[in-house]
Amino acid sequence: MRFGRITPLNKLAALLLVCYYTLITTHAFARMGGAGGHGGGYSGGGGSGSGIALLIYFLLEHPFLALILIAVIVYFKYIKKGTATGSNTPPAPSQAVQFPQGLDANKIATSFLAIQDAWQRKDPAKVRKWLSDGMYQRITVQFKMMDALGQKNTLSNIRITNIAVVSTITDGQYQVADVAISFTMDDSFTSNKYPQFNESYPSDSDTEYWTFIKRTGSSNEKNLYDNDNCPNCGAPFEVKMGEISRCANCNTLTNSAAYDWVLSEITQNNDFSRRVALTADSELKLTLQKDAFFAVQRMEDIASNIFMQLMDVLTVGSEKRITRFAGHEIVSAVALQKQKAKPFVYDRLYINNVTLSNYAIEGDLVKLYLNVKVTYRRVAIDGQLQIIDNDFVTRLCSMELSRNKSVNNKSGETVYSYECSSCGAPYTDTTEDNCSYCDAPVVDVSMNWVLTGFAWK
Ligand SMILES: [Zn+2]
Ligand SMILES: [Zn+2]
Repeated sequence: MRFGRITPLNKLAALLLVCYYTLITTHAFARMGGAGGHGGGYSGGGGSGSGIALLIYFLLEHPFLALILIAVIVYFKYIKKGTATGSNTPPAPSQAVQFPQGLDANKIATSFLAIQDAWQRKDPAKVRKWLSDGMYQRITVQFKMMDALGQKNTLSNIRITNIAVVSTITDGQYQVADVAISFTMDDSFTSNKYPQFNESYPSDSDTEYWTFIKRTGSSNEKNLYDNDNCPNCGAPFEVKMGEISRCANCNTLTNSAAYDWVLSEITQNNDFSRRVALTADSELKLTLQKDAFFAVQRMEDIASNIFMQLMDVLTVGSEKRITRFAGHEIVSAVALQKQKAKPFVYDRLYINNVTLSNYAIEGDLVKLYLNVKVTYRRVAIDGQLQIIDNDFVTRLCSMELSRNKSVNNKSGETVYSYECSSCGAPYTDTTEDNCSYCDAPVVDVSMNWVLTGFAWK
């Protein structure tokens, strides 16, 4: 899936290609320049027009130099890319770790190809049963943005060239595995409505890191990847699963990681680093020992789930969504933020990574601090298209999640922000402050994690 991918090198190549085209058709450039704002999203914006004009004139005088520039770009894009260098480069896939039990290259390949298919069709129904809720929100909120801009991402000639496990850890009742997937594909991101955002990468090759999670103590050994049936009752999935991945027949939660490995995160090559974080923090573990289902990866999944819902609310979604996990103060602050800005959507919106960076214990309360690194470009589509960010922006957002430390979580089976953590009833269309079945408060730190802070850094 290419939703998490925007490389500066590709953008530079595109810019230079635009320049090269301009060499051949100077009249077109005059029209483009004259049209103002039709210059395309790559250039890094207005204001630089005269600089680019100078560059064009210089290159016009020296066409041979232009060809050398293009050769350099081609070298970096297609030849140099194959060799991993630099200090930030993650461990090479060749130093592979053994596959943990129940996970194998077949499942990975099936999952990889199925997600590409779901992504380009903008339909997650077939992959839902083995997607974490955070992963589901990452994909579907972006579908909403793409729909608003008439965009689609066509992927073809997909070929997986290598699959290798790079790390496995145990965190509480869960096992977490990071798998490097290398591949080539033709990748074309297009919109008929707003072609200025179009991007095309034929024969693109890259490596992504896919993180899978599974419960350790579970005796269920089912395969979620080779069939379309419920892992518990065997009924075929006829009903589309949406926000909640429960079987319509037996009501089991298919993506609880009790049955099989569940996809919880996709990280781009440049953003991946080995997890250290707070997985091994014994004080945190001790504080939350009554919560048998606490794990860092799960909290990071909840954080990405929350974050994507916030982004949805800030753009096209209903405020109702965040009233299920945020207190009144945060809800009002988000509403105000939305009111102040002119209506916008994201042209691309992907989470680079989520990290549980710190925590604090205040009396009975545990506060978790999570950093979400995100990349996007905002555009206003009120009447006509207006680009708010001249280029893709990468920003850090910090979130604080609070909960009582002695919450006794025995089942780990309710869906965060969609089901009552007290009785398990689904929050259908409620805007009520209390569960319509058991009357438990929807947002309550003595029951569940509550978003108590949210700020851009
Ligand atoms: Zn079932
Ligand atoms: Zn309830």
